[in-house]
This record gives sequence, structure tokens and C-alpha cells, in this order.
Amino acid sequence: MGLKTKLDNLKITTCCPSCGSIRVGEKWPAHRISLEKSIFWCSNCGFGWQHPLPSQKEIRDYYERFTAYNIHGANEKEKSAIKRIRRINKLMPNRGHLLDIGSGLGYFLKIAQKDGWKVSGFEPQKSAALFCQDHLGINVYADSIQNLILESKTFDVVTLWDVWEHVHDPLQFLDQCMSLLSPGGLMAMAIPNASGLPAKIFKGQWRYVMKTHLNYFTLPYIHRIFSEKGLEIKQICHTIKIQSLLQGFASWLPFQVGTENIIRIGRRGSVEYDRPEQAKTEGQLEKSPALVNLFAFVRAICLEINLTPIPGSLGDLMELYCLKDLRE
Ligand SMILES: [Zn+2]
Repeated sequence: MGLKTKLDNLKITTCCPSCGSIRVGEKWPAHRISLEKSIFWCSNCGFGWQHPLPSQKEIRDYYERFTAYNIHGANEKEKSAIKRIRRINKLMPNRGHLLDIGSGLGYFLKIAQKDGWKVSGFEPQKSAALFCQDHLGINVYADSIQNLILESKTFDVVTLWDVWEHVHDPLQFLDQCMSLLSPGGLMAMAIPNASGLPAKIFKGQWRYVMKTHLNYFTLPYIHRIFSEKGLEIKQICHTIKIQSLLQGFASWLPFQVGTENIIRIGRRGSVEYDRPEQAKTEGQLEKSPALVNLFAFVRAICLEINLTPIPGSLGDLMELYCLKDLRE
């Protein structure tokens, strides 16, 4: 292959998938995903993406092999769901119809329903959707995200918790989600904040650089895109996860530390079926109840810190609450 062809290929494969600019600046080698992958950044719009992007099939197969859902993190998920529904209620005091996209095992739907909302879910993983229907009696559409076409403009609130960073075409997906929302409706989402301090410090070793995270959003990008789309940001809530700092600092050590296993210790009685090695660690721990209690205590404190809002530039996760304009 001649040098010119190589350069041409490089240009073609590295233009920004969001704005099309060829001003691709910094890139983060993402050894946490694979040696061949990097996170590329557009200096024109501030969007970041995994490069090369995995195929839809590759990602689907990956989700099937590693079940992301387990019922043992329930306590943490319910606590954060309660905080989220309170924030939604402040902006939309009249309870209407709420759709949670990527509803998983339905922790958020359950809390929203209890709070008086009429709820529906959309979940690509069939077993999770069935769990919601069987255990919670909540209507969940089970289909792939590409087929997310329900009746337009019928929902007062659409929520996307930890979803937007996973999709192959984030702008098209945002349009789809917005079309489901009634004029003046509320869109709430949680995404990793790639412009916060932890991302800037740890770069390719940042906790949220993951195989399944295809998109990386900075605040300037969000502000620009949302204003173009007619979404008015009413509230942004920033948080940081202790796990993220722990994992980031551990990545600087000259030896490997199994931080994922440390982080999971203290989930009382939990055996995560997708991680047999963790079940083994938990089994050994059970022989020492004092240690289990200590870890559970530390875990509870960490959870409180994880859910406490902090100044934006320090955080690595953000929740956005936005109103769709009244245009039909
Ligand atoms: Zn761009």
C-alpha cells in the first residue's frame, strides 16, 4: 500500500461521525478495551467516539455473553431512582405517561409507578423485559434499539439512564427519542461526562472507557446539540463514583490490581452470575462476617458519596433534565 493510499484511508476513517469534520485532534489509546482501539476526539464539535467502531453484531454478541443486568445491585439502583424521580417531579409536577428506554430490570419504572406515573419500558434484552412483565406487571416493549418506533408524541417524559453512550448513531437515536415525546415534554438522561476532571486525568484508563461505550460526550457538545434539537436544559446534576477514582489511580500502579473485584466486595450475599470469579471471592469472605460487615459499611458510605451532587468540572457522570420545545 502506497503512502498516499494510507493517508487517504486515514482521512476517510477518522472524520468525525457527528459533524463530519476532519479536524480530529487528540486521541486516547484505550488499552482497557483492546490494543487496537482508541477514543478519537473531534476538535470542531467536542464529540468522542470509539475507533474503529465495533459492528452491531459484535456488540450484540458481547451483551449476550456478559449479562449486564443482575438483581443484586437493587439497593443502589433504587436509591438513585428515587433521587431521579424527585428531580423529574420538580419539572413535571403533573404525573403523566413516562417511557424508560433501556429499562433493564425495571428499578426506575417500579419507583416511578409507585410515585403515580403511568409507566412503560423499552428494553432490547428479552429476559430483562420479561422479568419486568412477570415480576412488576409493567408493560415493556422488547425490541432492538434500532426498532424504537412507538406511537409518536405520546409520552410526557422519556428517560435514558446510561443508554446514549451505547448506541451506534447517537444523533439519529436522539431524534427517535424526541419524536416519542409530546411538545413541552421532559427528556432525562444519565451519561458519562467526558469533559470532567476524572476523564481528563485518566484518559484511556478512565472507568467509562468501555467496550460497550461507543460515544463520549463533552458538555460543550451537549449544549450545542441540545440547543440545535430544541431541548432546553433545565438542570444538570453531576456526580463522581468512588469506583472510578479507585480504578483510575490503580491504573497508574506498575502492577495490576483487580479493582473490579474489590469494588464488588460488600454486596451482601451477592453472587453475580456473570462473574464466577467474584462468587468465589464472596464465598471466601462469608467465613468472616466481621469483614463482610465492614465492607458493607464502607460500601454504604461510598454509595452516599456516589449519589451526592458535586460541581460539574469535577464529576464523571451527569444527569440532564431537558424540556422539548413546543414546536409541533
Ligand atoms: Zn465533530
